[in-house]
Amino acid sequence: MDDGLSAERVLVLFSGGQDSTTCLAWALNQFPHVETLGFFYGQRHRVELDCRDGVRASLGQRFGTRLGPDHVLDISAPMAALGASAMTHDIEIATMAEGLPNTFVPGRNLLFFTYAGALAYRRSLRRIVGGMCETDFSGYPDCRDDTIKALQVALNLGMQRRFMLETPLMWIDKAATWAMAESLGILDLIVEQTHTCYLGDRTNRREWGFGCGTCPACVLRSEGFHRWRSFRKPD
Ligand SMILES: [Zn+2]
Repeated sequence: MDDGLSAERVLVLFSGGQDSTTCLAWALNQFPHVETLGFFYGQRHRVELDCRDGVRASLGQRFGTRLGPDHVLDISAPMAALGASAMTHDIEIATMAEGLPNTFVPGRNLLFFTYAGALAYRRSLRRIVGGMCETDFSGYPDCRDDTIKALQVALNLGMQRRFMLETPLMWIDKAATWAMAESLGILDLIVEQTHTCYLGDRTNRREWGFGCGTCPACVLRSEGFHRWRSFRKPD
């Protein structure tokens, strides 16, 4: 379909965390032009966003001109106007009545992909890559495969383009995400330069990286690391 987009041109939703960094390396490993998009939506700790430049610099050294421009959108004002979650305000992480963690930011991925589609349209990027995962399901309904597939249909109808939304981590667990990082040769980068901890802890360095070690994001990351290590062949 000649809609002006190129399948060789990719946009990766890139937060500076483990999953999106793995997705970025995955894309750089196979496509000649990869741009990145990050969002400031009022997350309590900017540390993940602050990791982005370091990760991009390291991957840029490795993949050279494949790594295209970075885009950052500040959507904190409308997100703040819409209300609080434990991801954006200093309230304790807990489970809400319907079983969802209160780190859920309603509509976040729906907004992210809509902005990504608008940018990809302007930049002639056909593939839009995100690190959503249904396997280690924290219950976020906007990480589900069906949600992403529906978004692809909606974006393609609404913009009259043929975008391809790709989620390489959708059906693998965190241990397999670590294995993927190893196969892409970015293990050190993941451990040293990416950030996942909900509490923004960059002081405690653990085998699997920096973090408090007890928040849900740290538990997922560390358990995945240890599971990966337990079935990995010795060097
Ligand atoms: Zn943590």
